[in-house]
Amino acid sequence: MKQSSWEGKKVTIVGLARTGLAAAKALLAKGAKVTITDSEVEEKLRNYMQQLPPEVEFRLGGHPDEVFTDADVIIPSPGVPLNIAPIVQAQAAGIKIMSEIELAYRFTEVPIIGITGTNGKTTTTTIIGQLLNAAGKKTFVGGNIGVPLVEEALSPFKKDFWVAELSSFQLESIILFRPHIAVLLNVTPDHLDRYNSFEEYLYAKAQVFSNQTPDDFAALNADDELVEKLAPTIRAKKIFFSRRKKVDEGTMIRNNWIVGRFNGQETKICSLKKIRLKGKHNLENLLAAAAVGMVCGIAPEVIAKCFEKFEGLEHRLEPVANIKGIQFVNDSKATNIGAAIKSLESFDTPVILIAGGKDKGTDYAPLVRMIRQKCKEVILIGQAKNKIRQALGGFKIIKEAETLEDAVGMAFADAELGEVVLLSPACSSFDMFIDFEHRGKVFKEAINALI
Ligand code: ADP
Repeated sequence: MKQSSWEGKKVTIVGLARTGLAAAKALLAKGAKVTITDSEVEEKLRNYMQQLPPEVEFRLGGHPDEVFTDADVIIPSPGVPLNIAPIVQAQAAGIKIMSEIELAYRFTEVPIIGITGTNGKTTTTTIIGQLLNAAGKKTFVGGNIGVPLVEEALSPFKKDFWVAELSSFQLESIILFRPHIAVLLNVTPDHLDRYNSFEEYLYAKAQVFSNQTPDDFAALNADDELVEKLAPTIRAKKIFFSRRKKVDEGTMIRNNWIVGRFNGQETKICSLKKIRLKGKHNLENLLAAAAVGMVCGIAPEVIAKCFEKFEGLEHRLEPVANIKGIQFVNDSKATNIGAAIKSLESFDTPVILIAGGKDKGTDYAPLVRMIRQKCKEVILIGQAKNKIRQALGGFKIIKEAETLEDAVGMAFADAELGEVVLLSPACSSFDMFIDFEHRGKVFKEAINALI
């Protein structure tokens, strides 16, 4: 049973920001008794507090025990780790812990297309949203990016589809959440500072399929060994997408075309020659989107038109400038080694790579193998400098820079005609920047200063 009664239920929301606020509004509308706790003090949260009615109880500047132990349900905001003591204890005591996506799921009847994976979520989510819009479907695009699902649940305008980017953190505490179409793009090591092991991270990602039934669809990357291994455990109808192989049901590449094969019938969808998006990994994202589009009944011509127009998103393998024959590329969103490896894979000319930042407990060995194939020089920045330098062993040219601006200057001085200067850090940005967007902006400004 999807809809449970919230009337009189005591719900504690942990974290009062955009998601917490929307969750509180949705729960109040259903008659729940809402308490909100946040480690921040009142002055910082006033803006949110003013948007809620007086019956909401606030416990701010810390998390007193009773707000957890007295609750029927606890809703942690997306940034709150589930392994903190009060949440672990509450769970052991039988109190339900529900993520925001679980809550939103219980408040909607709209079919959800959920996209997860280590890399490519935002790109693929954006493309699928564009496909559905182009096909005239009323579509909400959000989740881990932009508008939280629970905020959309408050919207008076009913949609045909929700397209949701889902992070492993959001999937950790689902109970009934069941996307009608679930996409798993890839799984490579990431966030090992938050998970005890890679298996635990993989398990969180696989949760996206856990409530699906044979009426649902699972779109799986046939080129990713780990994703393929999960296939036998999935109850939904499986469709595959592949750059390399023939698939029985799903999308693949044939004679330079994206081709769909469904119910034994093959359909040409889009010629690769017309696609502007760079990078083999982006082809995987397009194949995934095409598979979802076909399942949703979108005409191949509509899919092709969208693919031809799509130029990619900012900070993801974004061409910035060509100065004196040297190409500068911003891939600041590459916050893990999987993304940086795929970025490097896209280049056939020598690369000067700017990498480093805040380490996430990753083993850099697989990245080093790719660096040896593609790079003429590596310039290291940030906290992870020493760890990456050690992993690089005797690599020919390793330099270090104090700032990203210095790194850009050094790279430009060393680059020759036809070469690429690529920012693809393989680390998060929080040691030197507010976020990956800030890092990408600083990189682009430094390049503009060269012009
Ligand atoms: P996410 O939302 O999962 O972080 P993005 O679409 O924002 O994904 O891309 C994040 C980073 O991963 C970028 O550096 C991008 O170039 C790279 N990337 C995008 N798609 C893929 C993919 N399918 N496989 C590997 N890396 C990818």
